[in-house]
Amino acid sequence: SSSDDEGEEYLFKIVIIGDSAVGKSNLLSRYARNEFNMHSKATIGVEFQTQTLEIDGKEVKAQIWDTAGQERFRAVTSAYYRGSFGALVVYDITRRSTFDSISRWLHELKSTSLFLIPSFCALNRNLTRSSAYFKIPNVRSDALHPAHSDTAVAKMLVGNKLDLDSIRDVSVEEGKSLAESEGLFFMETSALDSTNVKKAFDLVIREIYNNVS
Ligand code: GDP
Ligand code: MG
Repeated sequence: SSSDDEGEEYLFKIVIIGDSAVGKSNLLSRYARNEFNMHSKATIGVEFQTQTLEIDGKEVKAQIWDTAGQERFRAVTSAYYRGSFGALVVYDITRRSTFDSISRWLHELKSTSLFLIPSFCALNRNLTRSSAYFKIPNVRSDALHPAHSDTAVAKMLVGNKLDLDSIRDVSVEEGKSLAESEGLFFMETSALDSTNVKKAFDLVIREIYNNVS
């Protein structure tokens, strides 16, 4: 790589959404700190965790946001989605109602991101894809741009609690088929035994990097 590329950093915001108690907070704590909580309470204080990956010799930071329990009251606001480049949309494979909610979450993500596209990006979508726009020489929290086109948001459907396979209520095929029809990546995970947790987050981060680099 040329000397121009050295020290390049990327910073992406990723959000985790889905019904209450599907395991969003535990997926994040498993990924970021390798921790699991059997009796986790609503998230207090912590808004996001930052993970750094090295891709193509570049430092790629993902700022991963967790709801502070607002989803219980269907009170996740547009501020939560603002500026996100990726989303993990989570359901619990043992509770069909959480799978049935996925379309509502996708709709909310979509309408919020469309609402947030600034006019200059709506006029020139290519601008949002130009790498210059996303390269952040010195990472600052205010460098999280609200601008993105909906297609640039990397989305993964996550069926969590795979360790409870014996009492599953949603088949793998149903998950796959929903993901296919909505254009999402798909993975089943277990925050409890770690299955596919790193894979899921890393894939979303790499996809975002590929979208913008
Ligand atoms: P959130 O409301 O979506 O953030 O869900 P939490 O992460 O707080 O998890 C809700 C409950 O599900 C907690 O009791 C967790 O211990 C449990 N849980 C989360 N992930 C898993 C998993 O992969 N397997 C099992 N068996 N339980 C899980
Ligand atoms: Mg939570």
